[in-house]
Amino acid sequence: MDFGFSSQHEQVRETVTRFVAEDIAPLVAEAEETEVFPRELFRKWAGLGLLGVRYPEADGGSGFDKISDCIVREELSRVCQAFASSWSAHTHLALWPIWRAGTPDQKLRFFKPGLAGEKIGGFGLSEPDGGSDVRSMKTKADKVAGGWRLNGSKLYITNAPMADFLMVAARTKPGHSADAISLFIVELPNPGFHISKLKKEGIRSSETGLIHIEDALVPDDCLLGGEVGTYGIVLESLSENRIGVSANCLGMARGAFEASLEFAKTRIVRGKPIIEYQAIAHKLADMAADIEAAKWLVYYGAWRVDQGMIDAATASKVKLVASEMAVRVTEQAIRIHGGAGIMREYPVGRFHRDALVYVIGEGTSEIQRNIISRSLRSQS
Ligand SMILES: Cc1cc2nc3c(=O)[nH]c(=O)nc-3n(C[C@H](O)[C@H](O)[C@H](O)COP(=O)(O)OP(=O)(O)OC[C@H]3O[C@@H](n4cnc5c(N)ncnc54)[C@H](O)[C@@H]3O)c2cc1C
Repeated sequence: MDFGFSSQHEQVRETVTRFVAEDIAPLVAEAEETEVFPRELFRKWAGLGLLGVRYPEADGGSGFDKISDCIVREELSRVCQAFASSWSAHTHLALWPIWRAGTPDQKLRFFKPGLAGEKIGGFGLSEPDGGSDVRSMKTKADKVAGGWRLNGSKLYITNAPMADFLMVAARTKPGHSADAISLFIVELPNPGFHISKLKKEGIRSSETGLIHIEDALVPDDCLLGGEVGTYGIVLESLSENRIGVSANCLGMARGAFEASLEFAKTRIVRGKPIIEYQAIAHKLADMAADIEAAKWLVYYGAWRVDQGMIDAATASKVKLVASEMAVRVTEQAIRIHGGAGIMREYPVGRFHRDALVYVIGEGTSEIQRNIISRSLRSQS
């Protein structure tokens, strides 16, 4: 058993931490206030190789492992989860299926410029009537001469209002099997795609869209891999992605904890710093222990991904523990700050609102519990 990070992992953390402090932290307040994502960040991330962390060097990526991916996520989220969410929707949800199953032409047109930060992607799976229940998807694609005609709607789609392309899941045949759903890479703008930007409580500067799709024509070469029934590609990546967002949760909790520790040491009440009151010190102790427990579970999950040993139930356990931990820790952070915790001048309210997104996104906590309990029922 070895709990140490390698020197390469330490180097990744050091590089990202420095970049986040110098290039990301100064952008957060304005982006949060305006709810506009600073697009230029994608070029900067590309310059550091951060859009290709998980992809092999032979395919234009940085060739790192899942542990490195989690380190990047943790450090981004420690400062701004909204930016980290847009990063994740692009690098993982949008690019992964193309890397995994795209045709050489699709890789050239979307994956390569995606890694370079020249094109920004999103991933449209959820619908107004089907967030948790993906199989009830209503968006459909009908074959027409030279391409496909898409009709339906997609809800809560990260990056949609600013995306250059969207990976869109649509039903290509009746029935509830996974192979009834196919993936399309839709270049934007498309006259049949009407995208409106949603106002949100959490991850405000990560732009999220509602999409009405009305007789949208897409050419044949937009069908992922040139084949129908590719939804299995998404299922393949789900477990890995749940470990990834767990690292995001770890980062948010750390950000809120660090702000609280600093606040508790400097806020003087009745002549002494509040950290000297046992009630506050114990809150900090509980937060530190909660974070430490989740940290090692997250990196255990990442290690299992790297060993090719990840399974759905383990990924759900990691996501459930890390996301619920982030909600608990960020709430305690607000309490430690007193009235200041409610003020926008302090980051802890933002961390809490952002953490709440992650007991919902990538499968709610209830859905994670369903997956875990299903695996328990099948144990002998
Ligand atoms: C900020 C944000 C960004 C997002 N980005 C994307 C994106 O980029 N792409 C994308 O495709 N989706 C995205 N989503 C959608 C997200 O994945 C869904 O919101 C999530 O899966 C839940 O679906 P829902 O909102 O329809 O809730 P519902 O499925 O309606 O669930 C409502 C409640 O019922 C519970 N519930 C539902 N089914 C069950 C069940 N079988 N057993 C027990 N309880 C159940 C849920 O846990 C929840 O508490 C995003 C969401 C948010 C909030």
